[in-house]
Amino acid sequence: MTKVNLISLQKTYRGQPVPVLKDFSLSVNDGEMVALLGPSGSGKSTLLKLITGIERPDAGDIQFDGVSILNAPPNKRGAVFMFQKSYLFPFLNVEENIGFGLKVQGVSSETIRSEVTRMLDLIGLPGTERRKPAQLSGGEQQRVALARALVTRPKLLLLDEPLSSLDTEVRMNLQESIRNIQRELGITTILVTHDLGEAMAMSDRLALLLKGEIVAVDKPEKLFHHPPSLAAAQFMGVSTFLSGDQLTVKNEAGAGSSEKLLAIRPEHIRIQKEACKNSMQGVVSDCVFRGEYVEYQVAVKEITVRARMPMPAPMFPHGEQVRVRFPAEYLFEVN
Ligand code: ADP
Ligand code: MG
Repeated sequence: MTKVNLISLQKTYRGQPVPVLKDFSLSVNDGEMVALLGPSGSGKSTLLKLITGIERPDAGDIQFDGVSILNAPPNKRGAVFMFQKSYLFPFLNVEENIGFGLKVQGVSSETIRSEVTRMLDLIGLPGTERRKPAQLSGGEQQRVALARALVTRPKLLLLDEPLSSLDTEVRMNLQESIRNIQRELGITTILVTHDLGEAMAMSDRLALLLKGEIVAVDKPEKLFHHPPSLAAAQFMGVSTFLSGDQLTVKNEAGAGSSEKLLAIRPEHIRIQKEACKNSMQGVVSDCVFRGEYVEYQVAVKEITVRARMPMPAPMFPHGEQVRVRFPAEYLFEVN
């Protein structure tokens, strides 16, 4: 059981002009899963490397239960990694792969066997002890990699885009399993991903990382419905911002602008024929049927408004004159 404090971490790679992490602070509570969401190149993997000790921060501190681990060697820190590619040992069977860490620690083979059995039950693959990694599907290999990471009872589990190479159904399945296993073992976890859906589905709290800095941290549902800033809103899939009383549509606010903006989620925007309050004239530039919803792009003045109308929804063809409505009850302020 571990509380993790990441305090004002800074990291600039040698020869690079800009820092990867500028002033990164985040606390992860005991048994909590925090998802760190950020675009590719935002420094997510770098953060995990600082925690495991593969890289050193230029400044700041990393504490487990209030004690700095910066001077501990990587193998003594108690943090384990699970990556996108599992890198199981190909010549070892499932039992030997999962038991590897315990064997290194000198644990008796009897204990190893019972621990492996327990882990296989936990990951939903009982009876696969004798199989080689090549005889497992991609999703099963990731499950075994998770078991191998957890069998030594680490203080902290670090997941670096662990599911991004799997197809949708397997991924959803594993998201749920990992979440359940994490809860059952009560292991403190940081999940790094660029997938908003995955981050929301799996985490207790969500941290948004942009250009080396955290722009917001909160419960997923809170950030989803009430992102505190323009940057946070964009992370959460909001692309339409309105300013002033005239409902000027903006796709992005001017840099450093201090004006208050109104924002609206794409699924709350309505595309219709009738003119009414809070609506603007537009021309359909794209209308895509996605099964559960219809995705619209509508040109309003010189801006593109993106809307997602849940089914049943009208389908207006390209070039159709429509009204784009922003229901007042769904508008929220961002800074
Ligand atoms: P993410 O995991 O969010 O995609 P990374 O932490 O891998 O981001 O990388 C952040 C930035 O640091 C990228 O611009 C990447 O090119 C750079 N970077 C990563 N590792 C090194 C390294 N060892 N040396 C120099 N630059 C690096
Ligand atoms: Mg990465």
